[in-house]
Amino acid sequence: MNSRGAMHHWFACPSAPRGACDLKTSAVGRLATSAQPFTFASVDLKPDDPLRLGNLFISRRYFSLMLIKNVSILESGQLLPGRDILIEEGKIAKMGSDLCNVSDDDEVIDGRGKLAIPGLINGHTHLAMTLLRGYADDMELMPWLQEKIWPLEAKITEEDVSWGVKLGCLEQIRFGITCYNDMYYFPDTAAKASKEMGLRAFISGVVFDMKPELLGQVEPFIRRWQGDELITPAVGPHAAYTCSEETLLKAKEIADRHDAMIHIHLSETSEEVDDFVLSKGKSPVEYLDSLGLLNSRLAAVHCVWLSLEDCRLLAERKANVVSCTVSNLKLTSGIAPLNTMMKANVNVCLGTDGASSNNNLSLFEEMKTTAIVQKNAYHTPAAFSAEQVWRLATENAARAFRLNMGLRPGSLADLVLIDLQKPWFCPQTNIISHLVYSMTGGVDTTIVNGKVLMREGVIPGEAEIMEKAQERFLRLTS
Ligand SMILES: [Zn+2]
Repeated sequence: MNSRGAMHHWFACPSAPRGACDLKTSAVGRLATSAQPFTFASVDLKPDDPLRLGNLFISRRYFSLMLIKNVSILESGQLLPGRDILIEEGKIAKMGSDLCNVSDDDEVIDGRGKLAIPGLINGHTHLAMTLLRGYADDMELMPWLQEKIWPLEAKITEEDVSWGVKLGCLEQIRFGITCYNDMYYFPDTAAKASKEMGLRAFISGVVFDMKPELLGQVEPFIRRWQGDELITPAVGPHAAYTCSEETLLKAKEIADRHDAMIHIHLSETSEEVDDFVLSKGKSPVEYLDSLGLLNSRLAAVHCVWLSLEDCRLLAERKANVVSCTVSNLKLTSGIAPLNTMMKANVNVCLGTDGASSNNNLSLFEEMKTTAIVQKNAYHTPAAFSAEQVWRLATENAARAFRLNMGLRPGSLADLVLIDLQKPWFCPQTNIISHLVYSMTGGVDTTIVNGKVLMREGVIPGEAEIMEKAQERFLRLTS
């Protein structure tokens, strides 16, 4: 067994020229007929090492080969049907139009009538808050937090977080999200639950001064999860108004030491910005900059109330902004100046925020709302196009989280198949427009790290997770 628990096997081509059997350089179709699988017990080679044995050229491969056949992809916004995607060891190994599976052990997915897209990235959430969905709606932000959310969160246990995270993972899998950036309590529990569900995640334990013990737990958490193939640990100071200067500097020190991301709420409400300007003579963005926190490893969430100088600073320092339009609208925090930020070259991506302020985890809904709201805020439908908002949830998010995403060889095999046989994709004209403005469902298959998490709308274990989440909610509110 190899380190991932999968038996590897070999295939051999008698007297084949060097490289002829290599999946990366040969037509896979030919291998299906010429290759004879057999097993060697104890030769220690890296997956792609070639080996000469007498006149046999042998290349090593694993059972984890997957082939998506006859799927459509988007190229420069145009629909290209009949493409094959070969996935090996969590990466896209090859793309073409005539690829075949190598052996009967390989997983083959029929992509006819489906569109493959890179998985969406949810730039901000508090996944365990799915348990609080619908619990306290339609309230002002501070009474909502102080009277409803915080008292309930005081009762939250690790078991609650585990089932809340699993529920949130289910929902994200159904909405075509393959990676998310989370901030909440019990990060180890969240990471473990998320890993069981198979999603890629950036997880930061929340840090704020009302619970000073949380700061000391950050670095051991990072050490425990650093190097994991799905979980990337990060540092999560809650906000500049809930963390002292000393806490923020310590958070930065830890993040710098581990090349980790910092995940923080920033300039969410006008009150927050007014308080900073009055007490420190600086905006929250300028304040974070004065502490050295603005850099390419920063995910600054919300950024609703920014000055032009704030936009310029965020761009210059290459900080990433995660906009959560639906949450900002629901809590009436305001509308982020995305068009201005993008004109200033700020890297903007999208997040859903927690399910208690959204109340779902759909980036499709987030995209549509963002585009429509920006058009109104800038008084012109041209302020934000479908293509622009699509980039926020894909390319820009991949840049923010330093992920090699995209449908091309070498990219992470984090992708989603969408059923095009739905009324909202008809007529098949501008598919990006349909994805942003029309789509109300149809995510068929979600694949992360080369593993299928949902196939044709079925996620194994879903019913049990929802049952447990319901039980945890009843316990919390009893
Ligand atoms: Zn948040």
